[in-house]
Amino acid sequence: MIMTLFLQQCAQKKVDLTKQPTQQTKMEDNTHANNPYYSRTDRTKLHVSNEEWKKILSPEVYAIAREANTEYPFTGKYNEFDELGEYYCAVCGNHLFRSDSKFASTCGWPSFFEADKEGVIYKRDSSHGMERTEVLCKRCDSHLGHVFNDGPPPTGTRYCMNSASLDFVADSKK
Ligand SMILES: [Zn+2]
Repeated sequence: MIMTLFLQQCAQKKVDLTKQPTQQTKMEDNTHANNPYYSRTDRTKLHVSNEEWKKILSPEVYAIAREANTEYPFTGKYNEFDELGEYYCAVCGNHLFRSDSKFASTCGWPSFFEADKEGVIYKRDSSHGMERTEVLCKRCDSHLGHVFNDGPPPTGTRYCMNSASLDFVADSKK
C-alpha cells in the first residue's frame, strides 16, 4: 500500500516538470513580527483557533498549515534547497528538522528521513481514498505533510513536507 502511494506521488512529477520554483528563500521573511505566538524556544502547547490564525498567517500558509492543503510539487522554496541549518514550523516557530536529515527526494517536496521527536505528532489520515499518516506540529497542530516508510537509510522513513509549513534558519544566521 505504501509503495503504491509512493508511486502515485512520484507520478505527478511528469505532469509538473515544466513548473519552475517561483520563489527564492528570503531570510528576512522569517521575522514574524505580527505573529505573537511565534517562538523558536517556547515549546508550550498552543490552543489558537483557525479564526485567529487566519488573521495572522499569509493565505498560502493558512491554506496548507491550517486546512491541510498540499502545495504543488516542485514549487516549494525548500524542495531544491540544501543549505545547512534548522527547519522550524512556519506557524509557531517550533523546531521540526535539522538539515542533516534532509535528502534529495524525487517527489517534488522537501523530504527528511528524521524529525525532531519533540517537534511533531502523527495522525491517521484516511482522506482522498488513501490511508496515510499525517505529520503535524506538536506545538500548534499545524499540518506539515505526510510520512512514508520508503525513505533512505538510516531510518527508512520519508517525511514528505510542504515548504509553506516550514521556516528555515541557516547556521550562519544563528
Ligand atoms: Zn507549529
